[in-house]
Amino acid sequence: MNTPSNIVVRFAPSPTGRLHIGNIRTALLNWLFAAKSGGQFVLRLDDTDEERSTEEFALGIVEDLAWLGMDPHRIEKQSSRVAIYDKTADLLRSKGLLYPCFETPDEIERRRKRLMARGLPPVYDRAALKLTDAEKAEFQEQGRKPHWRFLLPNYESSPFETRRTEVHWDDVMRGDQTVDLASMSDPVLIRGDGSYLYTLPSVVDDVDMGVTHVIRGGDHITNTGAQIAVFEAIGAAPPAFGHHNLLMDSSGEGLSKRTGSMSIASLREDGFEPMAVASLATLIGTGQAVEACRNLVELADTFDPKKVSKSNAKFDRGELDGLNEKLLHTMSYGEAQERLQALNSDLGDGFWTAVRANLSRFSEVEQWKAVVEGEFEAAEVADEDVEFLRQAAEMLPDMPWSTDVWQVWTAALKEKTGRKGRGLFMPLRKALTGLEHGPELAALLPVIGWERTRRRLP
Ligand code: GLU
Repeated sequence: MNTPSNIVVRFAPSPTGRLHIGNIRTALLNWLFAAKSGGQFVLRLDDTDEERSTEEFALGIVEDLAWLGMDPHRIEKQSSRVAIYDKTADLLRSKGLLYPCFETPDEIERRRKRLMARGLPPVYDRAALKLTDAEKAEFQEQGRKPHWRFLLPNYESSPFETRRTEVHWDDVMRGDQTVDLASMSDPVLIRGDGSYLYTLPSVVDDVDMGVTHVIRGGDHITNTGAQIAVFEAIGAAPPAFGHHNLLMDSSGEGLSKRTGSMSIASLREDGFEPMAVASLATLIGTGQAVEACRNLVELADTFDPKKVSKSNAKFDRGELDGLNEKLLHTMSYGEAQERLQALNSDLGDGFWTAVRANLSRFSEVEQWKAVVEGEFEAAEVADEDVEFLRQAAEMLPDMPWSTDVWQVWTAALKEKTGRKGRGLFMPLRKALTGLEHGPELAALLPVIGWERTRRRLP
């Protein structure tokens, strides 16, 4: 762990919305992979779509990563690197590997439907390659702006006679993968408005930034085939690739940036511990048990990329509650102290140890602090308990208290009054806390202390 290596990974979201649990799974799988080998984690903002990308979403991404403990070693924005992409596009043009197309979206769609109706794969027929210079000039005169496609190397002598062309890689998560370049359309690299789709910039950046491993969702497997061809076309060695399964919502639908309740921001607002979110987002959909890890280092040690399942996984928000409780119930005072102070609720180790098992969210410590300090409405005392509580007051052990003061006190009361079980404990609990449930009184009583206890008894 943490011996520096030359491993470089990147997380490459488009800042077009808030990150959801599925995006963060990609980020974590990258981060953990790098952490395991002391590598670097680059945050690359794929913001070439100027209309939909915003600075606010970019900041939100950095904030969400930081909340989960993932501070990037480097942050890059594609929008500031367009000149570099232009150079590579020119290189591809000069090699005849990037060609202009003038079909409108409607025309493309009609062709696609025609092919599908004939039971053929809807692969682009490269009609634009047949355009003469005069025809291209005419389209331009009509005001049509070309989009540009990359000519896939899936033919021998004529691009109109494609043949099976397999691209292979040893996937970090899936093992041997094969994509046939003849089964796909030449990818559009540049839109009609001149902006880049992510395919080319991503390759250029991965080369420039020394990315050694591209870890991303299984929805990118076909892209990987095409991108490997782009790497080769620009004379660069492709990095290693890993494709993880995707997370679906409870109805089996894919998550989108509009799935508000799955956003990291909303989970944070709901008071979940970052490590509950990180543990579930990482270990769900693997052959490994979903357990709550205390920090990312522990999660990196636990997580095995080879165990990621091939099939997609359903994300169940309900599972977060259990993990969250597990983390809180086993959190040491040392770990909690700073946060207790921030909530003005640091009543010491004894208090924390007494109340933590009752927390489902960290912020609930404030309620228990209020209980300890007596800021609660006194519970009504049933007639038959008045005398019992008076006796309890009388028999309350004097200070200094021993650590087993609760046992000593209740044993004496039991003997004196003949009460036991609920009849013995419940009136005391209600008098001391105003509630019928809560932390173990044996642990809470010393925190409440003699004076406050005495005041709560008749
Ligand atoms: N911006 C792309 C996406 O979010 C990046 C994919 C990749 O990791 O290469 O889908």
